Amino acid sequence: MKSLFNPASRIQDKLYFDEFGGVNPAITDSATYTFMDPETMTETFLGHTEGCFLYSRHWNPSNKLLADSLAEMEDTEAAWVTASGMAAITCAILQCCKSGDHIITSVTTYGGTFAFLHNYLPRFNIEVSFVDITDHKSVINHIKSNTRLIYTESITNPLLQVSDIGALSAIAKEKGILLMVDNTFSPMIISPARLGADIVVYSLTKFINGHNDCIAGAICGSADFINALSNVNDGTAMLLGPVLDPMRSTSILKNMHTLHIRMKQHSHNAMQVAKAFKEMGLKVRYPGLPEHPQYKLLTSMMNAEYGYSGMLAIELPSVELANELMRIMQLEKVGYLAVSLGYFKTLFSNSGRSTSSEVPVEIQRKMGLVEGLVRFSIGLDDDIDRTIERIKECLIRLKII
Ligand code: PLP
Repeated sequence: MKSLFNPASRIQDKLYFDEFGGVNPAITDSATYTFMDPETMTETFLGHTEGCFLYSRHWNPSNKLLADSLAEMEDTEAAWVTASGMAAITCAILQCCKSGDHIITSVTTYGGTFAFLHNYLPRFNIEVSFVDITDHKSVINHIKSNTRLIYTESITNPLLQVSDIGALSAIAKEKGILLMVDNTFSPMIISPARLGADIVVYSLTKFINGHNDCIAGAICGSADFINALSNVNDGTAMLLGPVLDPMRSTSILKNMHTLHIRMKQHSHNAMQVAKAFKEMGLKVRYPGLPEHPQYKLLTSMMNAEYGYSGMLAIELPSVELANELMRIMQLEKVGYLAVSLGYFKTLFSNSGRSTSSEVPVEIQRKMGLVEGLVRFSIGLDDDIDRTIERIKECLIRLKII
């Protein structure tokens, strides 16, 4: 039975009434804020004055509006916005873990996240185990007395495995461990916190903003967690300071109001492309195809109507063929040879040599990332059949089909 939770309606129901009645909230482009008396300033530093703003690295009214909308969308008590997805991920992890702790993570994550977990955290004496996140026995077997966090992506980058958030949350809760989920590939489609995740992180750079004009991120969780993150004395976000510019948060907030329409179109188009690839006899990964190993799981977890997301991948026999295909697809105006995703135009890249290049080749092969994998972020094309025809011509020209 599909959840009746409707993230788009929750965003829609947020009305803003600012000083001059603008339907779009005014941008607060102030770094600091005045107080009418010094005592209130002191109280604000102590965190006792709800609604008072102190300094924009701490909170900014424009950022607060975006954060509140994200919390509505995720059904979490609170949220905090950051200057990048990586800032959200790294601050949230560092807020949860200290020296001597242990993390279990999906081996398949965005390459930057993998690099942080694999290369950076050991410097701080935080140990990380990399597992196949769909193998729950392996997750359980890796739990130790100092395990503090299970980390995964709802739909993993770039292999498009689907994490069983409910099952992982049950495993985590039983042992008093936190579950953190990166939901960048599936905003609105999946609501990780409703399925049991304690913390949800995002690269807003992708689908949520959708226009490839800025880098941004978000952390959604309990009010206690978000307050701790922004605590002036020991909050990771406050002290590391990856604050989002309010001009940007204002434009992302506007784009959030079209997210539901965009997600439906991304998903619709990706489904058409995935089916066409399948008919052409290509090896395709798309969680909306019934043969995907977690198709049923995703169908049971998703909110109705937003589809199976815009991300898919094909596996070609070699990196040379993948490169040649991408080169000619760009010339034929299929989209851009570019990293990133969730854009209104189609983007494609060879994951092993780009967004997963931080993952050593032997680990890539072990997790099933073949050298000829081409990841597509399917755009909002009005006539997706025309795009499919263009891709088909490229594939025929290279004798791939
Ligand atoms: N999470 C996922 C799943 C990503 O794909 C990316 C970037 O590609 C990030 C996080 C990092 O986000 P940002 O580039 O906004 O720092």
